[in-house]
Amino acid sequence: MKYCSNCAGKIRIGIPEEDTIPRHICDNCDIIFYQNPKLITGCLPVYQDQVLLCKRAIEPRKGYWTLPAGFMENSESAEEGALRETREEANAEVRISHLYTMTSIVHVNQVQLIYLAHMDKAEYAPSNESLEVALFSEQEIPWDELAFPTIKNALSFYFEDRKKNQFPLRELTFKGN
Ligand SMILES: [Zn+2]
Repeated sequence: MKYCSNCAGKIRIGIPEEDTIPRHICDNCDIIFYQNPKLITGCLPVYQDQVLLCKRAIEPRKGYWTLPAGFMENSESAEEGALRETREEANAEVRISHLYTMTSIVHVNQVQLIYLAHMDKAEYAPSNESLEVALFSEQEIPWDELAFPTIKNALSFYFEDRKKNQFPLRELTFKGN
């Protein structure tokens, strides 16, 4: 940011007293604008031996397959956000089992939470955000057309864990290049 969202004055970048990180500061308002990571929340929806994927209708990675997930909104829990994103992107209702992957995506300042979830019915449909929504068995997963490495990881863990029928929480860190 260049200008203060409060007074439209010029923003200065500096390290405040008793801090160690450069911040955006408006001296006029005496406000420090802290910038912190964003949370992405979503589901890995399972129906029988298949998982539900969405083909992205929007950039980034338009045309690539992903799990239904998106930025968490204010005034909702992470679980509520995951359910909302699954409705918005896949028009699907799921029952959340538990938090399955938590990935710090350091180079883009995001933390991604993916919940393992189950579908009672094979009911889903595309949306404004998804060109296509479909169920895939392990053999059918379009591994080369997945939108993000975090999605690839979550799916790999799922099919690996399914062999033992144990789905522990995975904590991961991505640091980019
Ligand atoms: Zn200001």
